[in-house]
Amino acid sequence: MCLGSFADASQGLSKEIEQLEGLFTVETQKLKQITDHFVNELEKGLSVKGGSIPMNPTWVMSYPTGYETGTFLALDMGGTNLRVCQITLTDQKSEFDIIQSKYRMPEELKTGQADELWEYIADCLMQFIETHHGDVSKMDTLPLGFTFSYPATQNYIDEGVLQRWTKGFDIAGVEGENVVPMFEAALAAKGVPIKLTALINDTTGTLIASAYTDTKMKIGCIFGTGCNAAYMEDCGSIPKLAHLDVSPDTPMAINCEWGAFDNEHLVLPRTQYDVTIDNESPRPGQQAFEKMIAGLYLGELFRLVMVDLHDNHSAHIFSGQDISKLRRPYTLDSSFLSAIEEDPFENLSETRDLFHTKLGIEANPAELELVRRTAELIGTRAARLSACGVAAICKKKGYTSCHVGADGSVFNKYPHFKARGAQALREILDWPEKTDPKEEDPIEILAAEDGSGVGAALIAALTLKRVKEGNM
Ligand code: BGC
Ligand code: MG
Repeated sequence: MCLGSFADASQGLSKEIEQLEGLFTVETQKLKQITDHFVNELEKGLSVKGGSIPMNPTWVMSYPTGYETGTFLALDMGGTNLRVCQITLTDQKSEFDIIQSKYRMPEELKTGQADELWEYIADCLMQFIETHHGDVSKMDTLPLGFTFSYPATQNYIDEGVLQRWTKGFDIAGVEGENVVPMFEAALAAKGVPIKLTALINDTTGTLIASAYTDTKMKIGCIFGTGCNAAYMEDCGSIPKLAHLDVSPDTPMAINCEWGAFDNEHLVLPRTQYDVTIDNESPRPGQQAFEKMIAGLYLGELFRLVMVDLHDNHSAHIFSGQDISKLRRPYTLDSSFLSAIEEDPFENLSETRDLFHTKLGIEANPAELELVRRTAELIGTRAARLSACGVAAICKKKGYTSCHVGADGSVFNKYPHFKARGAQALREILDWPEKTDPKEEDPIEILAAEDGSGVGAALIAALTLKRVKEGNM
């Protein structure tokens, strides 16, 4: 009796699995088509007219030499933490010392009032300085690199007009405004002895920090809560900066903001679940690419599939059970999917326990198999689509061999993300199969150096040097 029902159920679900495979699998040809469109969109973003990918000039205009020196503060306003660091770039080539503290980023702040956000940040900075420097009235003002990882228009390195909030942030009165005066006013009100030297994106920080220790690094990527990349362009290839009085080969780091790729929905293979995520987000119609691949959305995609299969499909998974916990939006984050993909047991007993403890759902063997396969499909799609962005930048720049520095929770923690991304790059760029598995790929995506700490400090150092030399 028991055996019979198991066989029936698993047969029913193999049809569902096949359907999901059809929806979430992105074949080589499609990856290539997406990449080609991506190359065009990168170009468009650099044009005077612009396109959907912002391609923001960052005013980071050189790679570090490794000989930068000085002491800098760095502030990273991330989604879960606020991190404050003090970095000393030492006389030793490419060496640094770092001290750091992490502060919780209260969930309410992300959708609260702007003043509260800036005040909270100023308080954290003050606390850090008091801990490490003692009496603030007796100290010199410290230069700060502020990692503000949202799309921002910059006419100078020490300004940033927020184009739009991403990653679920929704604070009124900041979009369309320069965030630097707001930030500085909060510092001044509390007497925090800090001068903002550079406002940077996490991807630019990642690029510069990685290039500090590895000169083959040409792209900085974040695959985390959000997803994005930065690379070094020549000013002569940036029509929207034609007014600058610089030689065409002057470098300029570009923060692509590639999360906005295909906001017009021309090439990405969106499913009904992607459409739902977009519709229910605080900014529908934006960050189309990011919403299919970034950590913030992977668990939610999975949840939407599960609820749909329970409610609307003949298989009726978890039938007769109370799935109210599963119905809560954003109740599962990408670490839930990571855990499912990491489950080493053939009977998926850890996944079964996870469903029981986290969701109050008893999943049978056939359901567990479907759960595992769904996680694999969502994780694999994210890695393969991400590779299209990397391939597009390499194609645009003509890089056939380089290193790409990557950071973020998905890159560092999601099982198989790196291998799946590398496999997709191989397919897109038509590399022959390796003869020796230890052989390096022509383009390798590697773990980056600390972009929002060391990278921010380096950018502050490069900025002070450029100002001193009188270059813009
Ligand atoms: C932001 C980018 C950022 C990326 C990774 C995106 O949502 O728009 O500025 O680089 O997340 O943190
Ligand atoms: Mg970050």
